[in-house]
Formats: sequence, C-alpha cells, structure tokens
Amino acid sequence: MPSLELSLNDLNAPQREAVTHSGSPLLIIAGAGSGKTRVLTYRIAHLLEQRGVRPGEILAITFTNKAAAEMKQRVEGLISSRAANAMWVLTFHSACVRILRREGGRLGYPSSFTIYDAADSKRLMQLVCKEMDLDPKRFPPKSFSAQVSNLKNELIDYDTFGESAQTEQEKKLAEAYTLYQRRLHEAGAMDFDDLIMLTVNLLEMFPDVAEYYRRRFRHVLVDEYQDTNHAQYRLVRQLVGIGGDTDPAAFPPPELCVVGDADQSIYAFRGATIRNILEFERDYPEARTILLEQNYRSTQNILNAANAVIQRNPDRREKKLWSDQGIGPKITGYVADNEHDEAAFVVGEIDKLHDEGEFTPSQVAVFYRTNAQSRVFEDVFIRTGLPYKIVGGVRFYERKEIRDILAYLRVLANPEDTVSLRRILNVPKRGIGDRAEESIELFAARERISFAQALRRAQDAPGIATRSLKAIREFTALLEELEELAPSSSPSEIIEAVLHRTGYLSELANSKDIQDESRVENLEEFVDVAREFENTFSGPLYGGEEEEEPGAAAGEETGPEGAAAATGEGAGEEAEGEGETTPEPTLVDFLEQISLVADTDQIPDADESGGVVTLMTLHSAKGLEFPVVFLTGMEDGVFPHMRTLGEKEELEEERRLAYVGITRAQQRLYISRSAVRSAWGTPSYNPASRFLDEVPKDLVEWRRSESAIAPSRPKFATQSRKPSARPSREVPTLEVGDKVTHDSFGMGTVQLVDGVGDRTKARIDFGADIGEKDFLVKFAPIEKL
Ligand code: ATP
Ligand code: MG
Repeated sequence: MPSLELSLNDLNAPQREAVTHSGSPLLIIAGAGSGKTRVLTYRIAHLLEQRGVRPGEILAITFTNKAAAEMKQRVEGLISSRAANAMWVLTFHSACVRILRREGGRLGYPSSFTIYDAADSKRLMQLVCKEMDLDPKRFPPKSFSAQVSNLKNELIDYDTFGESAQTEQEKKLAEAYTLYQRRLHEAGAMDFDDLIMLTVNLLEMFPDVAEYYRRRFRHVLVDEYQDTNHAQYRLVRQLVGIGGDTDPAAFPPPELCVVGDADQSIYAFRGATIRNILEFERDYPEARTILLEQNYRSTQNILNAANAVIQRNPDRREKKLWSDQGIGPKITGYVADNEHDEAAFVVGEIDKLHDEGEFTPSQVAVFYRTNAQSRVFEDVFIRTGLPYKIVGGVRFYERKEIRDILAYLRVLANPEDTVSLRRILNVPKRGIGDRAEESIELFAARERISFAQALRRAQDAPGIATRSLKAIREFTALLEELEELAPSSSPSEIIEAVLHRTGYLSELANSKDIQDESRVENLEEFVDVAREFENTFSGPLYGGEEEEEPGAAAGEETGPEGAAAATGEGAGEEAEGEGETTPEPTLVDFLEQISLVADTDQIPDADESGGVVTLMTLHSAKGLEFPVVFLTGMEDGVFPHMRTLGEKEELEEERRLAYVGITRAQQRLYISRSAVRSAWGTPSYNPASRFLDEVPKDLVEWRRSESAIAPSRPKFATQSRKPSARPSREVPTLEVGDKVTHDSFGMGTVQLVDGVGDRTKARIDFGADIGEKDFLVKFAPIEKL
C-alpha cells in the first residue's frame, strides 16, 4: 500500500501547499501540465487519509466522464483503505442528474425523469414551432434551440426573457421557450441545459435542500474551472453556500478548491466564461491563490513554443512555465503538398517511430481542428493497416449527415432500395410523417408492390392526408429530377445536386447550432471524397495525387526530400495521362468504392505490440497528454477556423486552443500544414496558420518547407487533377443585388454573400417557385449577368 507520506514527496512545494491547505477557498491557477489535476487527486487522497474526511463528503467535478473515471482510479491508487465508491467524482451533468433524481419532485418532475439529448430537444423545438405555426424560414427551430440553450446557460428563465423581449424575433422566441419548457415538463423530461439550470433553481428555491448538500459535501473540487459557464458557476456557489440564502454562520461552509488555466478556456462558444476564473478572488475575498510554475509534462522546446504563441493574447496574466525535462528535440515541421500527403507523412512518421523502437502507436495522438479532417487520416490509416481510434467523435462514414446523403445516392443508383428510401423519406423534414409512411407500407403490402412503387402511387393509398400526399408528390418529383441528372453527371456533381436541391445544405447552413457547422464541413469533405475518387478513377485507389500544373515547369513538383518522407505511395508515378480513354466514373462505381472504406469491419483492431493511435479534435484533447503529438492542418481558414478569422475574441480563443494542442505533447511535437486542401472538391490554397508564425523559428526544424513546394504551386486553382471532359469555369465575383443565371434554376438575384476566395457562399433568390438557395460559388453552375 502506498503511504501518503511518501506520496507527498511526489509533489513540489506549492503543490504540497495546495494539497494540504485548509480553511478557506482555494484557487490553483497555473499553466498546462503543471500538475493541477494531480493536485486535485492528491488533495482528495489527503483529505481521506489525513484529515479524516469520509468519501461521501467529497464532490469532485471533472470535465468529461473519462476524466472522472481516471481521477477516481488514481485516488484509489493513492489511498490505503476503503474503496472510494461513496465519493462523487462526476461531471457537472451527472452530478446534477443525481441531485435531481433525488429532489426533482420539488420542481414537479418525477424522479424517473427522462433526459432529452440534443437530437430529442431539437425535435421537440420543431414540434413547438409547428404548434405555434411559425414560418421556419423566419424563425428557424434550430436557431431557437440554440438560443434557448444560451439563455439556460445564463440562467435566464422564460418569464424574465419574455419581459425584456422587444423585437418580434425575441417575442416569438420567448413564446417558444415557454411552450418548449411546458412540453418538457409535461413529458417529465429535461434537456441537458435543464440539468444544470434546474439544479441551480432547486438549490436557490429550497434552502433546506441547499443546506442538505452543503452539510453532505464538505469538500467541493472542480477541475478545468476556466470552462465553466455561468450556470455552472452559480451551481458551485450554491453548493458551497456563498450567494445562497442560508446563514453561513450556522455551520462552516464547505471547502472549495478549483483549478484552472485561463489560457486554456476554449468553450466560450458554449457560454463558458473566463471571467469565472479571473473574478474568483473578488467572489471569494478570503480565498487563497496558489500558482504553479513548473511543468512536468513537456520538454522546454515544446513549452517555449506554447508560451510564445499564448503571449500574443492580450489581457492575460503573464505566467512563465518552465520544465526540467530538458530542452528536447526540436519541433518537426512539415509542409505537405495536399492533405493526403500530410496524412501520409503522419502515418510514415508513426511507422518510423515504431520501427525504431522509440514510441508505440498508443503513445501517439493526431489532432485536427474540425471533425471532418479525420476522414483523410482514416483513409490512410485503414489503407496502411495502422490501428486507430477516434476519441469523442464518430467515424466519418458513420456520421448522420454522411449516411443521409449516402442513402440518397443509393436510392438514385437503385430506386428500390427500401431501407435507404425510408431513411430519406422525411430528411430533410418535408412533412411526410410516420403515419403517412405506415400507410404507404400497408398499401405496398396489400398491393404486393415495393415501397418505392407504392410511394409513386401514393394517391391510391388510403388514409394519407392531402398535405402529406402533396409532400410525397414533391419528393418523388425531386427524386425523378435527380435520377435524370445522374447518367450525365459525375458522382461529386450528383452529391452537390442532392445537397442543394433537397434543401439539406441550406437547412444546416441556416442553423445557428455549432454542430451543424461541422456537419456542413463533413459534407464538404464528402464532396471531396467523390472528387478524389473521380480524379483517381481507373488508377489504384489513392494513386496519383499530383496537381495538374498549368503553366508550371514540369519536374519541380517535389522538393529535395520531397515525398520521400511519405509512405512511398502517392508520389504520382502511376495513373497519369489516361485522359480521353478513361471511362467516366459512375455513381455505382463510387458507391462500390465507398462501401469498401465505409465498412467499419475493415478497421484493424489494436495489435498486441503497440496499441492504437488516437485521433481527435483539439477540443477533445483538453486535459490529456501524449508522448508524441501531431498538430495538423495548421492553415489560416482551417486553424484558426474560417469562422474566427475576422473576430478578435474568437481568434484569441483559437489561440488558446493552439496552446492546449501544443501543451499536450510530452516529448515530440510535429506541426504540419498543407499547401493545398480540397474544399467542396476543388483545391483551396490556405496561407500558413498565423500560429505557425508565432512559434519562434529556432524551435522548429522544417523537414519540408514552403520553398520545397513553392515552384510547383500554381497561381490559380485547378478544377481537377485529371484532364477532365468538363471544362473549368470562371468563378464569378458576386455582390448583393447581382443578377445571375443558374444552369437549372434560371435567373436569380444575389441576396447574401459570405466568406472569401474558394469558400465564398452566396444566397440567391430564384423567385416564387424555386425560392432562395445557398451555394458555394466556386462550385455552383452560376453565371453573372
Ligand atoms: P492541464 O492544464 O493540461 O490539465 P495539469 O496542470 O492538470 O495540465 P497534470 O495533468 O496534473 O497537469 O500533470 C501533468 C503531468 O505532470 C502528469 O503526467 C503528472 O503526473 C506530472 N506531474 C505533475 N506534478 C508532478 C510532480 N510534482 N512530480 C512528478 N510528476 C508530476
Ligand atoms: Mg488537468
């Protein structure tokens, strides 16, 4: 049994002080890797072992369930006695669920209340908006959902919001919020945000309940405090009895210990506010603040890079992290030709590190900014048989939006594919409900015809409401229109058509939900999948990766070290210049190909020798550490994310995210970017991430630099890597008010232009019949008049 006496020697002086401090609130504010989480763990062990605290008196809050499980396990490893089961080591949400299961009756909820996940609550908001007869164009339910969530995070209830509502938008929102809340209540259900908000309400409204928990949890500890939002902040205050109604003199308030790092606050978009940490001392005047400055995680080179980047943010408390892990090797930089080259470089390096016996795959993590970026990595990992897992995310081909669009493609390739057809019947929502679907099913069974046939003869089926019938007719007409298009179009064009004509894309584009933004990115990536397929068709699957180079001298395409660092594939020796004789790839070819990679059985299991590489977004990487880290996609427009480029505050949050990413690395850090990256199937040339420039030059050894690829970089985007039958098109520069013609929709007027360069989007109004549609200008068949 480890003795804690001994364990305390595993801590430095300020850490030890934090662990043993008692009697007043404690704030530990310190940079990444300085042992904050370790201090929390040791503090819990110390409370149990040395201060006679019972496990049931401890409430420790972590940011993820995984972190909670880990912390509990570590505490158990440190203490000599009892299992720590009675201890609450939980996320905010799960702690609130426990409280509400016990006390929810006071708010009129059954103890067996249902928890609505994001999809459920969105569906409910849609129903509410329908009930209110709101025009979904003017009052999109998704945007209402997002706004209600924000209000709840700010603890603003519907009455309060209703009183201050001024505009029609706000008034309708207030009404929808009220009705939404009533429906939830009637259903005995709570959404995620309710879990926190209602717990705060409960504690504020019922002093006896608050007192019960204050007497029960004598110690409240919170990790990642910088990412708490206002509701969570108020919850903590309630739990320790500050700002509450009970008399603090009645019994001593629970001891609060929070740890955080303002430089790692990366959830402002979810309402987290750094203010909570900056103002801690004001809220708790008697609080003790402890700073930790020694980093135990990373080499000095890695730390210097992180410090240099974060220093660019204004208004921060300066803290210098140092490490005695040694200087360590320099950071490795790599500029890839394109994203496949980048993925090949990463996989090649992982292989090399493994072969040389330095690191196993399980010691390696690959980070990227957005989920969609995982796809190219997944392809290369699957192809090379390197086992991997994706943390906190879903594999690309398992994502809902990809499956939806695949279902459309399958129906176009095979109209009788009932499963796919039923999947898309009401996706996006077009008013074909379950009842209508059932009637069609019954009708098909009675007539002994297929579901697809029954759908086309819906008017003969009994029991379908006129409104549904109209929706079904529109749907079958839409499918026919798409079917007509299919034989003469490439897979990527068909996908584009599906995305636009079904309204799938505009529904996501109009949403304010941050998840929908990433869905759009995934779909964009899916168009790229098709485009890659077309460009490499007839060659080996990922054979020729080279760009066509109009006007550029041949033979300069790679630098001296060039593609040698890649896995040996994809250098473009094969599959060239088969232009005219190559058959055009069809939709069926494409689907066949996809079913090979989309088949998740293909993903290798962890092999005994080295475990699996971890892939994840930067957001999911918080709190974790890995011996080897690849920070990929370091391009302006990718990371920092496109959305944040023009916004000072959002850019600062992106910089904090960069700081989080860099500081995950213990021994080796790789940073890479790609000179060209596909967006909607066409190459997009993103400049180097500004964060790369912020890393001091002498810390990085560029394995392959800008200059190595510069000569081959064409000035303008090429449409396709393979000589294509489809002529490339001039991309029009649009302004609001411009008149345009679209190949299918005819004349229209530009209503809105958003974004720059290859990513410019436009909203065009084609008149009453067709309405408004959103396009990626680069790709849409539009001509300016
Ligand atoms: P982050 O801000 O990324 O959450 P953190 O401040 O929580 O980081 P920890 O994860 O607790 O840092 O610690 C980073 C690493 O340093 C861990 O591997 C931890 O075990 C180790 N470490 C921390 N303090 C010490 C110490 N005094 N002696 C040895 N190792 C330590
Ligand atoms: Mg931590």
